[in-house]
Amino acid sequence: MAGMLYLVPTPIGNLGDISQRCRETLEQADFIAAEDTRVSLKLLNHLGIKKSLVSYYEHNKAFKGEKIVERILSGETCALVSDAGSPAISDPGEDLVKLCHEAGIVVCAIPGPCAAITALSISGQATGRFCFEGFLSTAKKSRREHLESLVKEQRTMIFYEAPHKLLTTLQDMAAVFGEDRPISLCRELTKLHEEVVRTTLGEAVAKYTENAPKGEFVLIVAGAPAEEKEVASEADAAARVQQLMDEGLSRKDAVKQVSKDLNLPKNVVYDIALKDSE
Ligand code: SAM
Repeated sequence: MAGMLYLVPTPIGNLGDISQRCRETLEQADFIAAEDTRVSLKLLNHLGIKKSLVSYYEHNKAFKGEKIVERILSGETCALVSDAGSPAISDPGEDLVKLCHEAGIVVCAIPGPCAAITALSISGQATGRFCFEGFLSTAKKSRREHLESLVKEQRTMIFYEAPHKLLTTLQDMAAVFGEDRPISLCRELTKLHEEVVRTTLGEAVAKYTENAPKGEFVLIVAGAPAEEKEVASEADAAARVQQLMDEGLSRKDAVKQVSKDLNLPKNVVYDIALKDSE
């Protein structure tokens, strides 16, 4: 009978955050696949657990993934851990989970620490709707393209960032989202120097230009205000109606078409078109 893959989240700073269930899973697994075996060994020593460790990280994951799947198919149970937080969330693991599903192996994720969710909940930004954007690319062009694709995003956005790239990222964000956009910089979560700086992108750039950032950060950026979107679609709707009328359609037919295209009620598009023609 095949074994199983367990995804075991580990503390993002405070060792007290390891749960009883994670501890038991690590104890009971036949082997542990770890992003960095030296980092995980420290945790296992702290927990008093002795277990066979194999490395599974970005640059060996293609080869090691197959080996891990073979071991699980032969009946062993594997616990996957990353350096900190939930495996497979901006961490190696995503591919292994996919491989296991493809091989018919049961995957069980144990809930636990995740920097993104910890930061979101403490950020003071809207939590009702959010999107996780992970790390931005180190290449300037793709970083800008990624941010530009989010200009109209109204949901709260979550980013991971390394301290040495933080200032450049904030500068790019301020250039794309505007200096007034609110941001919560959540630093060193669950650690001694935990801090949440609630500010704007412009002020964050000024702050970290003066004092170099230290520690680990999650950036929680407020979404674009809804009004901006309404204004944009109003201008867009008026322009589209005008364009169709220029092409020969009656106002009534142009309104009908634009209301369908933009999924807006006909009377709203009609009012916008009238206002625009005054
Ligand atoms: N899988 C992990 C998780 O779910 O929390 C995230 C791993 S990702 C490689 C590492 C990034 O998570 C860091 O660069 C930082 O952005 C964020 N992070 C991890 N621990 C943190 C902490 N204690 N405080 C703030 N951010 C943290």
